[in-house]
This record gives sequence, structure tokens and C-alpha cells, in this order.
Amino acid sequence: MPEPTAPDPATICARPPLPNPSKTPPLAPPLQLSSVYEFRGIDQVDAVYEGREPGYIYARDGHPNAAQLAAKVAALEGGEAALVCASGMAAESALMLAMLGQGDRVAIAEGLYGRTTMLAAKELSRFGIGHDLFDQSRPETLRAALTPTTRLVFVETLSNPLLRMADIAGLAAITRPAGVALAVDHTFAPLLCRPLELGADVVVHSATKSIGGHSDVTLGLLVGSKARIDHLAPIASTFGLTGNPFDSWMALRGAATLALRTERTCATALELARRLEGHPAVARVNYPGLPSHPDHDLARRVLRGFGAMISFDVGGRSQAGLFIEGLRHIPYAPSLGDVSTTLSHPTTTSHRSQTPEQWARQGITPGLIRLSVGLEAVEDLWADLDRALAQRP
Ligand code: PLP
Repeated sequence: MPEPTAPDPATICARPPLPNPSKTPPLAPPLQLSSVYEFRGIDQVDAVYEGREPGYIYARDGHPNAAQLAAKVAALEGGEAALVCASGMAAESALMLAMLGQGDRVAIAEGLYGRTTMLAAKELSRFGIGHDLFDQSRPETLRAALTPTTRLVFVETLSNPLLRMADIAGLAAITRPAGVALAVDHTFAPLLCRPLELGADVVVHSATKSIGGHSDVTLGLLVGSKARIDHLAPIASTFGLTGNPFDSWMALRGAATLALRTERTCATALELARRLEGHPAVARVNYPGLPSHPDHDLARRVLRGFGAMISFDVGGRSQAGLFIEGLRHIPYAPSLGDVSTTLSHPTTTSHRSQTPEQWARQGITPGLIRLSVGLEAVEDLWADLDRALAQRP
């Protein structure tokens, strides 16, 4: 039967649009939300699956916006390839699910982000995966924590919330000869150093934080050699952990200003840390740029700038509460890496699932405040902090 000349309105509505004939490509990256791609026929599908022809198939396995973000972050980290995951925790889960099996062990640094500790110490134990703890700033403690079945070591460049540094080169000198992979969560320190050049095998990012930079994205990344990412990518897709086009597009846009933001926030954070350290209402300041920080020498050797994160102790839970309520402009919003300064209170947010004994072992106190420094003028930030520090019980 001949095809009717004018399709039915139902058909017009349902058909996908024709490809755009423009020969002038857009300067800004297009947002490509399609969850699936179209093939000419079965020879082309074979060619794309077998890597003989470039192309995408299904967005969970890859899409243009993730590829563009992955290429940018891989270049920033000096890695061959990267994988975009649905969140920082999705990136960590993909890594651990791909690299660990029943009977294996993972060595994790003491004092990591609370959910990371929960993933390795609680969730993975249900699958017969054990864990061991060590101090990431003292590599010799890792030697004691490694066992014949340890497959993965996980640290944070700057730990959350005490900002202890991982001695990445010192740790790699132990993991490399032992054939154990070293993963570094670089969420607190993008651009401050390149963990892969210091000997790490995989870099983990929560792009929800500084890479996205505006608290409007939830995304994560893994960066490493092409062989490692080729191994991790299909496993991440099978577990459903890969990232979506819109957040990838947003994170790419945020990343455009990452270098500028980093320069500014490092300078402001150093100045605020110095002032906080001299304030009578502050018992202790943790900032790697201060000579009083236990890892200051290592930080000076390894980092270009000391980061946007500061934590400081205002005494106890009630002082912390008064301080938070005394702020007029800095919101209590338990994330980090935003263009605006935010603060968090680890014992009621990121580390609330841990016991007081676990807090005490790490040095986390109920009076501890974690500040993520943004782009405001330093004097405006100081005025808000100084006023709130005057609120005493
Ligand atoms: N790593 C660190 C150091 C974090 O602070 C966080 C979240 O706060 C994560 C990983 C998890 O990232 P996401 O919230 O994107 O899952």
C-alpha cells in the first residue's frame, strides 16, 4: 500500500525530529539527553560494539556529555581516561565492586568521609570483603595493615573533616611493589596536586563539590589508565552507577572556572585560617597551610595552594550550635565546594553515623565546624564569622 502523503497527526507527534543540517558547529557543548542512539543497520551496530566505528549505543554505557567531562577531568589529572559516575559514592562503589571480591580486603585510611568508611567497613562486609585501617599520613602504618589478600588501598588527599594529608608518594612506594592498587579521593584538593603523578593508580572525585562548583550537580568520576577505566566502565554500567547527560553538562560548565575558583578560595581560606587561629573563641584550627598543622611540611612540598576547606573547634556542641545560629550569611549546608561559603558540623552530618569512640579516635569533636570557603570578599566573611564567634553560652 502506498504511504499516505501527509502523515497522521499522531505520527507527526511521535516521530523523532530530522537531524540538524547545520554545518556550523555550536561553540558551547550541546546537551544530548538521548538515552539511546540510532543505527543504519546491523553492520554498523557490530562496528560500534567492536570499536571499529565511533558511536554511542545506550546512555548508561556512554554519551557525549560524559565523554566531554571525562576528557577534561582526565586531562586535569594527567590520566589517560576517566569514567563519569552518578555521584562520588557511585564512583567509589564502582571502584570497590570492580576491584574486590569475596575474601579480598581493602585498606582504608582512618578519618575518611563517613559514607566512604561505611561503604568499605559495613556494606562490603556483607559480601565477604574485609577491611583494615591505617594512618594515611604515616605510610609505615599501611605496611602493617596490608595482608596477602589486600587488593585496594583507599585514602583522601585531604581528609574530611580534619584535613590530614595522605603521603601519596610514600604510600605508593608500598602499594606498587606489593601489586596493590592505590585509590585517592581527590574531592578536597582538585588542582592542588596530581595523585597519579605521585604514584596513585586511580583518582576519585565527587564532582558534586568543587568541579561542579555551584551545588546543583550530583556526580562523581574515576580517573586512571585507559586499561583500568576500560575495566571499570562496563562494571559501573552493569551496577547502574554511571552519570547522566544533564549533570555531566552542568559539571563541564562548572569546571570551566575551577582554576580561577581554586586560586581565589585557597587565598581566602589561608587568610581566614590565620585569623581563626588567633581568635580567643577558637580552640583549634585544622588547615594544612598553617605551620601548626601536623602535615604542614608535606603540604608545602606537595600542594599548590592549601585548599578551600578549614575545620575549627569552637568548644562543644552548644557553642557550635550558637555559632551556627549566630551567622547571618554563611549557611549551614552540609556539602562543600560551592561558589558561596558554606559550613557543616561533622558530628551531626557527615559523621553522624559514627560512635563517639570513633570520633574520639580520629580527633573529631562535637565543637568541630567545617568551613568550605567560597568566592566572597574575605572581609565580609570575617565579619560574619567574628560576629558569630562572639555568641557565647
Ligand atoms: N568523598 C568526599 C571527600 C566527600 O566529602 C563526599 C561527599 O561529601 C563524597 C566523596 C561523596 O560524594 P557524593 O556526595 O557526590 O556521593
